[in-house]
Amino acid sequence: SNREIDVDEWVYSTCGYCSVGCGLYIGVKDGEAVAVEGNSDSLVNKGKLCIKGLYEWKALHAPERATSPMIRKNGKLEPVSWDEALSHFVDKMQRIIDEKGSEGVGIYHTGQLLLEEYYALGKLAKGVIGTPNIDANTRLCMASAVQGYIRSFGTDGPPGCYEDLDQAEVLFIIGANPAEMHPQLWQRILHYRAEKKTKIIVADPRLTLPAQVADLHLALRPGTNIALLNAMIHVLISEGLIDLEMIEAHTHGFAELKALVEDYPPERGEELTGVPAKRIIEAALLFGRSATATTLYCQGVNQSMSATDTATLINTLHLISGKIGKPGCTPFSLTGQSTSMSNREVGGTTSLPGFRNPMNPEHRREVAEIWKLDQEKIPCQTNDIMKMMALIGEGKLDFLWVIGTNPVVSLPDQRKIREYLDRVFLVVQDVYYPMETAQYADIFLPAAQWGEKTGTYTNLERRVNIGYQAVKPPGNGKSDLIIFQEVGKRLGEGEAFNWNEPEEVFNEWKLLSKGRPNDMSGMTYLRLEKEHGIRWPCPATNHPGTARLYTQGIFNTFECIAEAYGDFNHFEGRAKLWAVPYQQPPEIPDSDYPFWLNTGSIIEHYHTRTKTKRIPELNITAPEGYVEVNPQDAKGLQIQDGEKVRVVSRRGWIEVGVRVRNTVSPGQVFVPFHFGDLDPLEAHLKQAANHLTLNWVDPFSKQPMMKVSACRIEKIRHS
Ligand code: SF4
Repeated sequence: SNREIDVDEWVYSTCGYCSVGCGLYIGVKDGEAVAVEGNSDSLVNKGKLCIKGLYEWKALHAPERATSPMIRKNGKLEPVSWDEALSHFVDKMQRIIDEKGSEGVGIYHTGQLLLEEYYALGKLAKGVIGTPNIDANTRLCMASAVQGYIRSFGTDGPPGCYEDLDQAEVLFIIGANPAEMHPQLWQRILHYRAEKKTKIIVADPRLTLPAQVADLHLALRPGTNIALLNAMIHVLISEGLIDLEMIEAHTHGFAELKALVEDYPPERGEELTGVPAKRIIEAALLFGRSATATTLYCQGVNQSMSATDTATLINTLHLISGKIGKPGCTPFSLTGQSTSMSNREVGGTTSLPGFRNPMNPEHRREVAEIWKLDQEKIPCQTNDIMKMMALIGEGKLDFLWVIGTNPVVSLPDQRKIREYLDRVFLVVQDVYYPMETAQYADIFLPAAQWGEKTGTYTNLERRVNIGYQAVKPPGNGKSDLIIFQEVGKRLGEGEAFNWNEPEEVFNEWKLLSKGRPNDMSGMTYLRLEKEHGIRWPCPATNHPGTARLYTQGIFNTFECIAEAYGDFNHFEGRAKLWAVPYQQPPEIPDSDYPFWLNTGSIIEHYHTRTKTKRIPELNITAPEGYVEVNPQDAKGLQIQDGEKVRVVSRRGWIEVGVRVRNTVSPGQVFVPFHFGDLDPLEAHLKQAANHLTLNWVDPFSKQPMMKVSACRIEKIRHS
């Protein structure tokens, strides 16, 4: 415990890293953050924190904190006043709108703002600027899960809660590594596993930590999730391990599903996935015969082949076996960032606030009425970031505002991304300078970060938590909310952005949430603090919040964004079972590029390390990028552990050290995606994994498929 540390006060807050949403207090001494302490009353983490949360306060003090707005003059970013920076920003944007229409402007933001900030930004982008070009880095993280929920249930939102992890007899973890990405969730799983003898099945090409402790590890070939799930569903149906009552009363599409999975007996599953048929059968029987089962999934699904289809199949697995809407039973997507859920709730990207459908004129009217803005301005649909990049390439998008994200490390096929960013007028709003994307900026705006502003964070079980401002941002930094308000005022809509406190924004959003699936109208900041978060829907001030959705088997009672996908809203409250065939990934290993390339996260780092590389306790064990290679392949390539090699794909190359490990199977390699190469701190290195990845997006979610491509390893011969 850090409680004995001498502080002036402990300020109630929530962790700003992953979406587990751990409760904590920030210790403040003489106006500076000096410690973090887990909140022992938090229903999420009961006082425990992982290494990232524990040292998060150190991210506030890094010497590279940006303290002044800057404008590029004579090729260099130079400090200017806020007035000069914002005047230049708005003048330039206005000129482009006059010339090209609002489509000439794009906004690419993050999963790390606060709910109130996403709400304000959505209002600014859609209600004032009127651009269809708004997206967030949540596109890289959970867009496929969102589309999966919409396609299966008619609306977004994880149906379950953390107690389901405690109560499940079987945990099926597919394409997720909570031990590294959601550490406190993993601790919780291990705790209850010891107590309740939970069986764990892990489907992952890598021998991750969860795979090492699993009762059954299905080491499937990259890109073959659909083949595995279809084969498991084949076994469930043929063994009669399905809930016919549930299927008949509450779903639609079973006949098509049954017909399709007839073509996926376990032997075909083995052929496609490389997992022995008997293991597929064992997994299906374990899942099907258990009274309760919960499935966790993350980037190994969302960033893989047929991502949205896979998410719908996971939902299907639970629907046909009746394992949904009751304790211990749920499909559960694990999102990455602390507030990516908030972003989707309040219309920060594709939908309008309250999961409203932008194509529905009535929904646009409802939103415009609360916003007190012109309904005609609100775009009927939005463009994802890869589409925006293409628009830059076509000369149709000339102004890009990047907020709290670092595309010059995180987007796939980096060579093209950097070409596009060179071409566009770029505004970067972030907390550190220098950082990779800011090297392309024409204007830089210094923002406040976690601990320096007040607002709400929805975690991955729909729990809305509050975090209060503990300290001020350094120098002239401003909160993102204030920056959005100031831009709104300069664009002539001062009235619509005239909030004095973040809770006034929250209260405006609550009006739009009323009666929607994610109703938060019964929440107040005070309640969120006293009750340590409340799960939506919470429609009244005396409502305790909702642990599980679909407890009565009623799906799809709202008209949400689902209309975009056809006739969801004609199924009288039924969920849809999608029959989806396996498709081979667009790039597979061949003689030129013989290895499967897998990219992902490690526990020490978070996203592109803008925060974590500045925290010595985190950076010390993982200061550089690397490639994991199987011992058998290392022998064939005559490379040693620690040796620097070149990893080459059709898109580019990186040079990183080798880690010879049996965590990857022969023929596969793994590269963590956190590391950049334009940072002056690391100018000698070219190690961003996304030089290698494929620019190919899922047709429904538009999420890039960064988990599956092909590469080769070249020995570096020193002359
Ligand atoms: Fe923060 Fe996630 Fe770690 Fe909890 S598990 S302390 S939310 S990074």
